[in-house]
Amino acid sequence: MAEITYRIGLAQHREHRYTVTLRVPRPAAETTLSLPVWIPGSYMVREFGRHLSGLTARQGGREVALTQLDKTTWRAECQGTATLELRYEAYAFDHSVRTAYLDDRRGFFNGTSLCLRVHGREAEPHEVQLAALPKGWRVATAMPVVAGARHTYRSANYDELIDHPFELGAFWRGEFEVAGARHEFVVAGAWPGFDGERLLADTRRICATQIAFWHGKRKPPFQHYVFMLNVVDEGYGGLEHRASTALIANRRDLPRPGASQNDGYVNLLGLISHEYFHTWNVKRLKPAEFTRFDHTRENYTELLWFFEGFTSYYDDLMLLRAGLIDPARYLKLVAKTVNGVRATPGRHVQSVAESSFDAWVKYYRSDENTPNSTVSYYTKGALIALLLDLRLRTATAGQQSLDAVMQGLWQRCKGAALTEADVLAEVQARGGQALANELANWVHGRGDLPLEAALAAAGVAVEHEAHAFTATLGLKLTEGAFTGVHIKSVLTGSPAAAAGLSAGDELLAVNGWRIRRLDDATQWVPQRQAFELLLARQQQVCSLQVQPSDDPAWTQQLKLAPQAQPTAKAAAVRKAWLGR
Ligand SMILES: [Zn+2]
Repeated sequence: MAEITYRIGLAQHREHRYTVTLRVPRPAAETTLSLPVWIPGSYMVREFGRHLSGLTARQGGREVALTQLDKTTWRAECQGTATLELRYEAYAFDHSVRTAYLDDRRGFFNGTSLCLRVHGREAEPHEVQLAALPKGWRVATAMPVVAGARHTYRSANYDELIDHPFELGAFWRGEFEVAGARHEFVVAGAWPGFDGERLLADTRRICATQIAFWHGKRKPPFQHYVFMLNVVDEGYGGLEHRASTALIANRRDLPRPGASQNDGYVNLLGLISHEYFHTWNVKRLKPAEFTRFDHTRENYTELLWFFEGFTSYYDDLMLLRAGLIDPARYLKLVAKTVNGVRATPGRHVQSVAESSFDAWVKYYRSDENTPNSTVSYYTKGALIALLLDLRLRTATAGQQSLDAVMQGLWQRCKGAALTEADVLAEVQARGGQALANELANWVHGRGDLPLEAALAAAGVAVEHEAHAFTATLGLKLTEGAFTGVHIKSVLTGSPAAAAGLSAGDELLAVNGWRIRRLDDATQWVPQRQAFELLLARQQQVCSLQVQPSDDPAWTQQLKLAPQAQPTAKAAAVRKAWLGR
């Protein structure tokens, strides 16, 4: 049976353009076509249609009239059942994991950037044929291959089509098997000689740990999974899919032969772990609102604290459980998250449920006011998961844990649509009504989480240490030897705000001494004494008096380490939680 087919040509790769021919068999008399305005997993309207051009339509050798209905929708007036053939170009010059890219070295695309949706035909199978691949290029995708046809792939429906990105090029490639599932790992942009075997071995441990977490000794819900990593000069991010993930990371963070583990590589492993965890938590278990996507507008949910936050909690925890980091390093990562949330005045402005709902216009559209007006559902969501885990473990002497809640939710929701009521019901069943009520308060409230007591009860020493000078003033900066010191954000209620500093100010000198990095100024500023700051604002040079604060909220940050001599109870909780 003839199917909806996209022939995606790469002949114009030097000009960063894919040429697409879309064939629609048996078209409706009025066939409506549109490109999505967003890609699932990245909650922002991106208007992919702005990169489409040259759309024409033909049917049986005859031109078909096209009417553009809005920014991203067209209607074709068809006659009879002859196949409708549309041609168009898609400009692709964005390195991000959310869109499409093409040049003479590499191609990458999501169907949301290239594949017009044929309204009313979404449930039919869709086929992708790649054409005019430059010599030596290979293809990586988890979309099933059509046997016997060159570079041809088939998805069961449109939503599946746009959930299978493609990586194209002469990339590095390796593979391994876990629990009967083939895992492919491709790296674009790597230098020859990076330690690919180590990357594969470490990723394999992450995958094995997570499959065991969700399924014990049973098989995962996919047979083929693909990691597509693009390494660049400067970049970090990923996008989850049902059987693959697209990742972008710093080239310098790839492992080197013989080198010891560094923070950059641990970051990369955390990203790999995060996106892989999403294979279950958001791609299968998902907000009930995401059961059917609306590709034409924002799709709201209050649950990103669960799907992104709890995934963020488990990403580093899985590195620990896979034996890739030790408890001391893990606790440092936790402390970083705690300190990050505490340096966000917006945590008292928004709850994580509100920040989930507003992701489309706030988290994804950050500006200088973001730390003051929003809280991250990733980081505060991860701390809620941590607190819930510790409370469950401590209250039940290790009988219950967040692991049991996640596995219980997988059963309760049959690996599909989930609501907040499901989460609360599962927590109530395992930790009691009072804990479920507390969870609802953490999610919908704007207060600080009672983390320190929970950590202490789990055998963690909670200490305080002095903040960096810049942080004590409540400033977020961009700094560079050649570009100068510029203010990105001034935190509400901070000494910098009281002094009248503003985002955009260029900081020039402290007490008459030229600065290249603001933290260096501590050599001229006696501790917590007022100082004179010379700055440039809109080309005018002026000076301000700054009075540092004594308030520990500004001067100190948290430091976490395993307690040297925990009580027997705390030691037992810690052992169950961190393995040591
Ligand atoms: Zn995520």
